[in-house]
Amino acid sequence: MSAPDRMCQHCSGGLDGKRADAKFCSAYCRVNSHRKDVGRVEPIRADVVIDKPMRDVLVEDNHLNPQDEHDAAKVREAFDRMCRHLCEKYA
Ligand SMILES: [Zn+2]
Repeated sequence: MSAPDRMCQHCSGGLDGKRADAKFCSAYCRVNSHRKDVGRVEPIRADVVIDKPMRDVLVEDNHLNPQDEHDAAKVREAFDRMCRHLCEKYA
């Protein structure tokens, strides 16, 4: 099992099964932690549906590689990136 000091920086939940360098237990926590930093990002629920049209937008805007379109984690990362990108653009 992982060391007890590994926990989510947002909700202090366990990071069992996450990458060794993971800081958050979920995209929800990552986004909400970031939201605290910038203050303007709307929360994104971890189970938000990113459908085909949305994936196409992510690919078109170069946030997502076409070959990663069906990798849920990468799609969600790309979605997070796009949100941050928009946030910076219109801040
Ligand atoms: Zn968490």
